[in-house]
Amino acid sequence: MIEGQKYEAVIGLEIHAQLATKSKLFCGDATSFGAEPNTHISPITMGHPGTLPKTNAKAIEYAIRMGLICGSKIAQDNYFARKNYFYPDLPKGYQVSQHTTPICLGGSIAIQLPDAEKIVQLNRIHLEEDAGKSIHDLSATDTLIDLNRAGTPLIEMVTEPCIHSAEEAFLFVTEVRKLVRWIGICDGNMEEGSLRCDANISIRLKGATRLGTRVEVKNLNSIRNIKKAIEFEIERLIQITETGGAIIQQTRSFDASNDTTFSIRDKEDANDYRYFPDPDLAPFHLTEAFIETIKNKLPTLPATLKKQWKIQYDLSDYAINQLVEDKEEADFYIQWAAACKHYKAIANWMIGPIRAVVNEGSLSFQQLSSFIPYLVELVELVEKNQLSFSVASTRVLKEMMARPGSPMAYATINNLLQTGSTDDIEKWIDEVLVKHPEKVAAYKKGKKGLLGVFVGEVKKISKGKADPKMTASLLEQKLA
Ligand code: ADP
Ligand code: MG
Repeated sequence: MIEGQKYEAVIGLEIHAQLATKSKLFCGDATSFGAEPNTHISPITMGHPGTLPKTNAKAIEYAIRMGLICGSKIAQDNYFARKNYFYPDLPKGYQVSQHTTPICLGGSIAIQLPDAEKIVQLNRIHLEEDAGKSIHDLSATDTLIDLNRAGTPLIEMVTEPCIHSAEEAFLFVTEVRKLVRWIGICDGNMEEGSLRCDANISIRLKGATRLGTRVEVKNLNSIRNIKKAIEFEIERLIQITETGGAIIQQTRSFDASNDTTFSIRDKEDANDYRYFPDPDLAPFHLTEAFIETIKNKLPTLPATLKKQWKIQYDLSDYAINQLVEDKEEADFYIQWAAACKHYKAIANWMIGPIRAVVNEGSLSFQQLSSFIPYLVELVELVEKNQLSFSVASTRVLKEMMARPGSPMAYATINNLLQTGSTDDIEKWIDEVLVKHPEKVAAYKKGKKGLLGVFVGEVKKISKGKADPKMTASLLEQKLA
């Protein structure tokens, strides 16, 4: 729309990621998803008087991991603060968070826009505990409370207001999800709420420097919804402004049934949470040596792999981008490529048939790693033209998955190997040519494109056994 070019959207995101620790931030209760309601709760989770919380060191380590890969400054002196407010699913009446000392300050995450890379600046990453869950849709009259989630460790990542479209926000959250999974600190599962996003949105005239009044859309639980909510909000704010209305600072929620947002409350300028340092939790100091140990354990990041692979394996950008989507998949590629030098062929196998096997069989790449010797053999057979790719990637691969064993042995026993034997191939060629006299005549008159058709026919009647290169050259000779 025309007005769209007059305004610039300004967006800042707050992403909550549940840390993949086994137990909660301040006690041993399990964090696993989907348990019977109110079974993962102890007096500490419930904040009963006299209980003493104890900080989960793994959660601190995970938060530092994220900060390190974002290039944030890690705060060495930290304390936890109580953020006081009343909410039915907040059993203690306060949430333990970090107030003035977020564990990671600044930093950034790069996203790939269609024409350029964009650096999204982070304001901070801090640690806090999650609240429980209020369930409104199981009873007509009551709200049910499940406190299993209460006390689960979270990091909250807060960006600067430097994102300017729904598309950029979409790419940013996609990248964050990939990174938290890559470094193993969060499963990134948005349907289960492991990763949630609040989007702050305002508009201003293009070229203006002051920020406009913002609205905040809370608890977006899918990347699609983040994009839809932001698109809707930008449009709505422009409409209000264009029709002479005033934008009020509001907290809103997204309605996925019609891709709109609605107001939950007008937001006062500053909530008074009466923060104070939690007297039950000792402040903690992080030594440089401790931070260094965490740094040394970090896996190679996708951005680095992309650069390395281009040189080491000479793969296309497309193939590289596909293979570094997921760490297990990338690790699997590295393992396979270490045992076989047909790097491009392996990449094709990975993106095609191997992915299909993993998806269909709900297997993990880790489970597949014992197959590597057989997969190496399989690729070699195809590269040496002893087996056609289609027979290899369907029949032989399937058999290998069902009954792990040598593909060469299986192909031999089942008479699947391609033959380069001139006698065999000529026999199949003759059969094909006799069947298609009109096509032969057309070819001889100049329709050379028919060669491919003949090769295809030979492939078919030989059940994939005729070496296609040999077939083509014998056909050319015969038809000359
Ligand atoms: P609060 O604690 O009230 O949520 P913060 O100042 O911490 O507020 O900001 C939260 C998020 O809102 C940040 O990501 C920030 O970049 C973003 N933000 C702040 N002001 C605006 C604005 N006017 N327009 C868009 N985003 C904004
Ligand atoms: Mg906020």
